[in-house]
Amino acid sequence: MQIRIKNLLKQSPVGSCVQVAGWIRTRRDTGGFSFLEVNDGSCLANIQVIAQGSLANYETEIKRLSAGCSVRVEGMLQTSPAKGQDVEILASGLTVVGWADPEHYPLQKKRHSFEFLREISHLRPRTNALGAVARVRSRLSYAIHTFFQERGFSQVHTPIITTSDCEGAGEMFQLTAMAAGDGPRGAEAREFFGRRAGLTVSGQLQAEVYAMALGDVYTFGPTFRAENSNTSRHLAEFWMIEPEMAFCDLARNMRVAEELLTYLLDDVMTHCAEDMDLFDRFIEKGLLTRLRGVMENEFARITYTEAVDRLLQAKKTFQYPVQWGIDLQSEHERYLTEEVFGRPLIVTDYPAAIKPFYMRVNDDVRTVAAMDILVPGIGEIIGGSQREERLEVLTARMEAAGINCEDYGWYLDLRRYGTVPHAGFGLGFERLIQFVSGMANIREVIPFPRTPGFAPC
Ligand code: ATP
Ligand code: MN
Repeated sequence: MQIRIKNLLKQSPVGSCVQVAGWIRTRRDTGGFSFLEVNDGSCLANIQVIAQGSLANYETEIKRLSAGCSVRVEGMLQTSPAKGQDVEILASGLTVVGWADPEHYPLQKKRHSFEFLREISHLRPRTNALGAVARVRSRLSYAIHTFFQERGFSQVHTPIITTSDCEGAGEMFQLTAMAAGDGPRGAEAREFFGRRAGLTVSGQLQAEVYAMALGDVYTFGPTFRAENSNTSRHLAEFWMIEPEMAFCDLARNMRVAEELLTYLLDDVMTHCAEDMDLFDRFIEKGLLTRLRGVMENEFARITYTEAVDRLLQAKKTFQYPVQWGIDLQSEHERYLTEEVFGRPLIVTDYPAAIKPFYMRVNDDVRTVAAMDILVPGIGEIIGGSQREERLEVLTARMEAAGINCEDYGWYLDLRRYGTVPHAGFGLGFERLIQFVSGMANIREVIPFPRTPGFAPC
C-alpha cells in the first residue's frame, strides 16, 4: 500500500515492502545503478531510492529521470549506509508517472532566490523552503482553530462582500456588478446591492454582532486592502484572525492575545520541528533561540505616551519625527520592540484621534483603550482594543469622524439592546508566519501573493 514518506520514516520497519509516490529531486548514477532522491511533500526529508540496473526500465526510463519527474516506487526498506538518513528503498519496481523536460524545468539543484521563485509561484512549493512554509502555515491554521475551540470560542464566518467601510475607505476594493457583455461603453456600474459594496478589510464589526449573542467568537478568513504600500509586510489579500469577546476588558484581551501567540509558537515548534530547523539554519540564524525567548518571557507593556517618551529619548534619528499624537511608524515600532525591550511589546492607550471610532474612549478622553502588539523583526503583528459600548459616546465619535450613523443602525443597535463591555483584536496570519519562520518578505509566506501590480496565478 502506498505510504507517505513522513509516515514511512516514522513507522515502517526495516525489511518491510513499501510503496511511495513523489517527485524526483536528483538522480545520481554510479557503476550500473542509480540513486534517486524522492520527495512527496509530506515532510522536508527526501527518501533515497536505489534503482538497480536489473530493473526492466532502467536503461529506457530510469536513466532519463531528472528533477521534477513524478514517479511511483515500490521496494524494500533497508538500512542506509549513507550519512544523513537511516533508511532507503531498494526498488523492485519504478513507474514514471509524468516526465519533466530537464531543458525547461525551472528548478535546478542550486539555490534559487525568493524573487525568482515568486515568478514561478506554481512550482515554488516544490522547494525545501517554500514547502516548509506551506506545512507550517497549515499547522498554524489548525493550531489557531484548536486554541479557540478548546477555549469555547465559536467560529463565525463573516462576509467577504461588505457594505461597511468604516476602517479604511481608501483601502477598500470596490465591487461592481458589470453583467457579461457590459462593455466599457455601457459601463454604468450597476449597483448590485443597491449601495456601495467592497471586499472586507476586517470582519470585526460583524464579529461583534455574534459576540453579543454567543459570547466568545472568532473569525479566520481572507481580508483585502487596496493599500498601495509595497512593503515587506503588506499584501493586498491576506488572512486575519479576529477574536471578539463579550464581557471582556482590555486586560483580558491582552492576556488572550499573549496566550495565543505563545501557544502557537509552542505548537509549531513541537509539530513542525524539522521545518523549523530548516528556517533556523537557512532563513534566520538563531530563530529557534529567539522564539524560545519569546515563549519564556512575558511580553513587555507600555502606554503609547510612555512609548513616545522613549522614542524622544532615543539616541537615534528617525525618518518620521516623533511627537505625541503621531501614528507610530514601523521604524518606531521596531526600535521599541527590538532595541529598547528586545522582546514582544504591547503598546496601549493610543490617542483617540489616530484610532478608529469603535475603540473605547478612556477617562482622560484623549486616548482610547487600544493595544497593539509589536514583535522584533516585524513591528505590528496584532492590533486590538476594547470596543465602545456606550451609545452616546459612540455616536458622538462617529459624527465627529463624519460617518453616517444611519448606515450603521445595526451596529448601534448592539449598544441599544443589552450592550456589554467587549473587546477583541486582529492577528495578521501572514505576519505571524513571518515571525515564526524568519522570512524577510511577506510574499514568501502566502501561497499566491497579491500586491500592487502582481497577481500572476
Ligand atoms: P499596519 O500599520 O502594519 O499597516 P494596520 O494598523 O493597518 O497595520 P490593523 O488594521 O490593525 O493593521 O489589522 C490587524 C492586523 O492585520 C495587523 O496587526 C497586521 O498583523 C495585519 N495586517 C494589516 N494590514 C496588512 C496587510 N496589508 N498585509 C498583511 N497583514 C496585514
Ligand atoms: Mn495598514
